[in-house]
Amino acid sequence: MKCELVFVGTELLLGDILNTNAQYLSKKLAALGFDVLFQCVVGDNPERLRKVLEEGLSRSDIIITTGGLGPTKDDLTKEVCASVFSLPLEMHEESLRRVRECFRAKNSPMPESNEKQALMPRGSVIFKNTNGTAPGCAMEKDGKHIIILPGPPREMSEMFENCALPYLKKFSDHVIISHSVRTFGIGESLMAEKAGELLDMQNPTVAPYAKSGEALLRVTAKAENEEEAEKLVAPVIDEIKRRFGNLVYGIDSANPEEALVALLKEKDLTLATAESCTGGLIAKRITDIPGASDVFGCGIVSYSNEIKKSLLGVREDLLEKYGAVSEAVAASMALGAVKAGKSDLAVSVTGIAGPDSDGTSKPVGLVYIAVTDGSNYRIKKLLTGHAEKSCRDYNRNVSASAALNEVRRFILESEDNQKDISAFISSF
Ligand code: ATP
Ligand code: MG
Repeated sequence: MKCELVFVGTELLLGDILNTNAQYLSKKLAALGFDVLFQCVVGDNPERLRKVLEEGLSRSDIIITTGGLGPTKDDLTKEVCASVFSLPLEMHEESLRRVRECFRAKNSPMPESNEKQALMPRGSVIFKNTNGTAPGCAMEKDGKHIIILPGPPREMSEMFENCALPYLKKFSDHVIISHSVRTFGIGESLMAEKAGELLDMQNPTVAPYAKSGEALLRVTAKAENEEEAEKLVAPVIDEIKRRFGNLVYGIDSANPEEALVALLKEKDLTLATAESCTGGLIAKRITDIPGASDVFGCGIVSYSNEIKKSLLGVREDLLEKYGAVSEAVAASMALGAVKAGKSDLAVSVTGIAGPDSDGTSKPVGLVYIAVTDGSNYRIKKLLTGHAEKSCRDYNRNVSASAALNEVRRFILESEDNQKDISAFISSF
């Protein structure tokens, strides 16, 4: 089925809001095996919307619109779509009852203008809005379909899942599913090399992607139904896991912090953090995950040398001789944090986020990460290679991701961890 997307809203054209509905719907439709041929953004203007719809219907089978279903004068999507199919609008009593209920639940009187939200094109399939007032619908004429959905993403996505998806599934004779094998600590080109002949497969296909210091392999299969598609994907994912070992931190998991919090929970371990250049970002990312309190109780942002000394017990001579960005200081910060946090593990980060250097010959993007359990330790020297004007965000994010990943590897690769962090610090 050929499909087009039309996003209605002048605020989208002006750049006031980001068109996240486009990404959401494109992904969903691709997964259904639909060909999305065009995406179009049009302002709240009935003539231009009509033109876009007529053009779309001349070349595609289905048009899906979002936005413009509200009660105000500039919300015209439903009216224009119905008129393109020459369908009169009729009061849909159940929708009217629902709109009224929404206002009653908020204990506010319903403005008369809201009644128009329950006027629906004759013969259309009505989509209930479980998150707001405006219903959506699907209308059909001569084998062509227009589906209208509300603009607010929460309303739109729920209506899509509950109503539009079952409606659309009737037209799809296959499904496409994808899973991402996510890795950290390997570049895209090395990843492609290791994946080798897997990248030449046809069904499933395997494609490498890189983002923010991470690399992932997306495995995509096409089959008659979901079960068959999953059967095609499973052995390929197993093979990738075998080749990449501990570099794989998760399948489809959203990010390294989610993977780490799950692992800490599984192993019943707690973590503390001591952060310099990341300024609390690691603690923030860990506490973004619901249930983080089971594994995380203490995050210290030790930005100044004074605090590194007084809170974490970093020796003054190490700061003077090697500078704050050094492995000696990273190790001392981690040891200080594991004691201060009374945790099983601690991770520290100290580095130069840029864009300015720290006045030494050390390069911007140099970061030291240390992990310890109080006796064993692991140190990583990271060179992000980013020193351009806008590098700060990138360096901080990648350092935080690398730190999260180092903790994961400290737990999983205990045989590779070094022994005796106190002796290591004393050796300087
Ligand atoms: P309402 O009843 O809230 O007016 P509506 O269906 O008429 O809903 P719009 O008025 O077009 O939708 O948009 C309402 C809000 O929804 C916008 O201000 C914006 O925050 C969000 N929105 C609309 N379209 C999109 C989009 N394509 N991507 C992301 N957000 C969107
Ligand atoms: Mg509106």
